[in-house]
Amino acid sequence: MKQIEVYIGLGSNMGDRASNLQDAINIIKNIIGIQVKAVSSIYLTEPWGNKNQDDFYNQVIMIETHLSARALLRELQKIEINMGRQRTENWGPRIIDLDILLYGDEIVDFPELKIPHPYAQQRLFVLIPLEEINSEIVFPDSGMGIREVLIRALGREDEKTINKVD
Ligand code: ADP
Ligand code: MG
Repeated sequence: MKQIEVYIGLGSNMGDRASNLQDAINIIKNIIGIQVKAVSSIYLTEPWGNKNQDDFYNQVIMIETHLSARALLRELQKIEINMGRQRTENWGPRIIDLDILLYGDEIVDFPELKIPHPYAQQRLFVLIPLEEINSEIVFPDSGMGIREVLIRALGREDEKTINKVD
């Protein structure tokens, strides 16, 4: 079956943030039809939007799968719910957030699923770990390479708000 390269962004800013990320990756690894191929470092990121909350731990993984983008979103949402995530305010604190950043070179535009993820080309907490695991990525919507997108974003955002966790 045709395998698609998919990039997933993970975030956590509640409880034991590092183990929340690891737990989510372990669950993803055990899903039939998904192989985890690359895992970025963890980055500590100041919260966006609502600043009155803990810093986020962010990470990006690359998987290969034959699942459709919608089927994959359902799997990721099941994990968010099973790990105890409550749906409260937008940009509020969360145990785990799992976003599909890129799904091969496909462009998806439904209300409940937009790929490339709308913030993927603006947010350093996505771009830095993405570039770490594959510096050759090209965004299918803008046609721009990850390096160029990253340089542009660095001109707008302060890199000091993102730090690698070792
Ligand atoms: P955010 O990740 O933007 O902080 P949420 O995790 O609460 O916010 O997601 C809100 C909605 O975003 C989800 O219900 C989902 O349907 C939708 N969504 C749209 N595109 C995507 C995507 N590429 N990956 C994950 N969720 C997405
Ligand atoms: Mg999300």
